[in-house]
Amino acid sequence: PLPTHLVGDDVEVMCIDGEIRQYLSLDFAASTSPLPEVLERVVEYMPNYSSVHRGAGYKSQVSTQVYEGARRAILRFCGKQDLDDGSTLADSDGQDGYSAIICRNTTEAINHLAFRLGLGKDDIVVTTVVEHHANLLPWRRYCQVRYVECDSQGTFDAQDVRRELSVSPRPSLLAITGASNITGWSPDLTEIIPLAHELAVPVLVDCAQLAPHRKIPADADFVVFSGHKIYAPFGGGALVGPTKYFTHGEPFLAGGGAVDLVDLDEVLWSAPPDREEAGSPNVVGALALQGAIEYFESVGFESVEDHDRTISRYLHSGLRARPYVTVLGPDIDDLLPVATFVVDSMPHSLVAARLSCEFAIGVRHGCFCAHPYLTRLLGLSNEEVDRFRDQVRRGDRSSSPGAVRASGGISTRLEDIDRFLDAIDSIVSSRDLDSNYVQDIVSGEYSLANESLEWYGQGGQDLACGHS
Ligand code: PMP
Repeated sequence: PLPTHLVGDDVEVMCIDGEIRQYLSLDFAASTSPLPEVLERVVEYMPNYSSVHRGAGYKSQVSTQVYEGARRAILRFCGKQDLDDGSTLADSDGQDGYSAIICRNTTEAINHLAFRLGLGKDDIVVTTVVEHHANLLPWRRYCQVRYVECDSQGTFDAQDVRRELSVSPRPSLLAITGASNITGWSPDLTEIIPLAHELAVPVLVDCAQLAPHRKIPADADFVVFSGHKIYAPFGGGALVGPTKYFTHGEPFLAGGGAVDLVDLDEVLWSAPPDREEAGSPNVVGALALQGAIEYFESVGFESVEDHDRTISRYLHSGLRARPYVTVLGPDIDDLLPVATFVVDSMPHSLVAARLSCEFAIGVRHGCFCAHPYLTRLLGLSNEEVDRFRDQVRRGDRSSSPGAVRASGGISTRLEDIDRFLDAIDSIVSSRDLDSNYVQDIVSGEYSLANESLEWYGQGGQDLACGHS
């Protein structure tokens, strides 16, 4: 059934040559438009929208059922539910099962977990240099962090992880990405999770990138992901983990809905998951998550993977075939459809600006919220990193290191990749047009230099609003 289409695929943009072009998103790794199935679910539900859990009215009952149905779908998506009878699987100790906590996104989910594990300054979390900042900074706030290093290709293997996990004192957690948002590379979790478990170390997998492309590893103890990267951008995300970690201690957020009883000097917290979800929950975001999960269940991850492999190979080989392009990361077959690259002697922000203004192609550029990984992939020396740090401190990002990222998903077609590669060729062969753009020193971003060309943005927006 793939490829499919997404809400907004028909939006058109006026480009600086006066031509109207269909907008092409190659920025799926940042965020995805909703699946039509997801939007339909939301629209269908909205007349019954109400508060959940605490209302006795009909709509509140319906909304509570919708919300709890989404929670079951999340557990299923993470391999934590018995598919025959719908019961939640027991955790690795054979106890208590798993809880799905519905939150905003991956960042919030990891902050939530980092707080909830109750780690202190003598505790250790092992993570990797490949991680997004969301899986680095929350750990540094509470405990010591040991890092699995990567090689010049940006990869490591299970033995590298074993080495870090085996150093005494034993870590409390391995926090590892399911796939990199820069290179699309996935660590070998089929080996890494069992070996962490052999060493009695529980594993969190950051599935922000993995979730829209591959089945979530069912043996991960903790899983986090974001709705806006799985075609359900309605503000929902999830943290799934063994219930036993959430039955004692203070919840991440304190407030209504998380308590059984409150006196002026006493509080009885509810059992999880309610204990972890103080405040009015995002029922629309939860339903959207369920809609996306059920879409993946209906098409099956095999067809998603087949499709991904085809476009990933096409994207990577197309970029690597161009002598003026350097692709970062390993040159291997099994990458997500994510390719990050630099164009010879051309600033990353200028490449991105020209793709947008001249070709209506949306990509991401910069450091992708994973500075340690990008620094390694670009092979920057400590002196260079220090120099860039000093420049940023002075408010000058004009020569900040970075790269351009093109990323696709379920609706990306081979002709989209052709259009993108042709655009890159055309940009490289018309460097005289670079002078149409000026750089803002503070942000490092390029925009159109000539005021007479500024109708580009305006026209584009008008068209985007009244799309055909
Ligand atoms: N981890 C990875 C691997 C990501 O790619 C991202 C988003 N770029 C995040 C975490 C953070 O996700 P969110 O912004 O949805 O919190």
